[in-house]
Amino acid sequence: MEKRNQLYEGKAKKVYATDDPDLFIVSYKDDATAFNGEKKGSIAGKGAVNNIMSNIVFALLEEAGVPTHLVRQLSDRDTLVKAVRILPLEVIVRNTAAGSFSKRYGVEEGTPLAQPTLEFSYKKDELGDPLINDDHILALGLADQADLDRVRIYTRKVNEVMKNFFETKGLKLIDFKIEFGKTPDGRIILADEVSPDTCRLWDIETNEKMDKDRFRRDLGKVEETYQAVLERVRA
Ligand code: UDP
Repeated sequence: MEKRNQLYEGKAKKVYATDDPDLFIVSYKDDATAFNGEKKGSIAGKGAVNNIMSNIVFALLEEAGVPTHLVRQLSDRDTLVKAVRILPLEVIVRNTAAGSFSKRYGVEEGTPLAQPTLEFSYKKDELGDPLINDDHILALGLADQADLDRVRIYTRKVNEVMKNFFETKGLKLIDFKIEFGKTPDGRIILADEVSPDTCRLWDIETNEKMDKDRFRRDLGKVEETYQAVLERVRA
């Protein structure tokens, strides 16, 4: 399958059309941004890590009954996926307080949460991806109630599967962000990526941060950490 015209370029990926209108090719870049694009940089090898890791996790989720956009990996950076219209929502799950949750509610990072917590952000860069609730989503027509119900069911399953999987790799799943898309025939499927860019992963033994916070917070060993996460996930 060959790339045709570029349809979209985001911060970390490009999306291309193919000869089949139902299939796209996503191509992962090494570009890294944080704080709504204010901090820019590059992480050598990140594109390949995120592509390969996402595909491993998506295959696992498919087995567990969560439909995903994955068709097949084409190369280290490129993957053939089902064409979808992405819902403009960042679906965030938190198992442990960190990042913006810690800041917003004044709880120390690393504080366990009484239950897995789901939140939505409205994907809109100009607004800085504001927090949004179900009523707001329905009022703005970003998704309908049936879509939201599906998204919640799949998201809970994604958390369970990923939490257990990463635990077997010596990694604690603190929080993560996923995105869903709608196929031309109206089905909701998991799209985008699952990677150290989109998950907070801490070493189970040492609590060392093994994710994009190394870039966001200038903690060093950024490239090495992305490679180390992929090695663990592959093992
Ligand atoms: N996240 C993401 N993209 C975003 C915002 C957040 O992938 O645009 C991920 C982030 O890596 C973390 C989780 O979502 O795993 C929760 O992030 P949070 O809301 O705490 O925001 P942050 O502290 O990263 O600004």
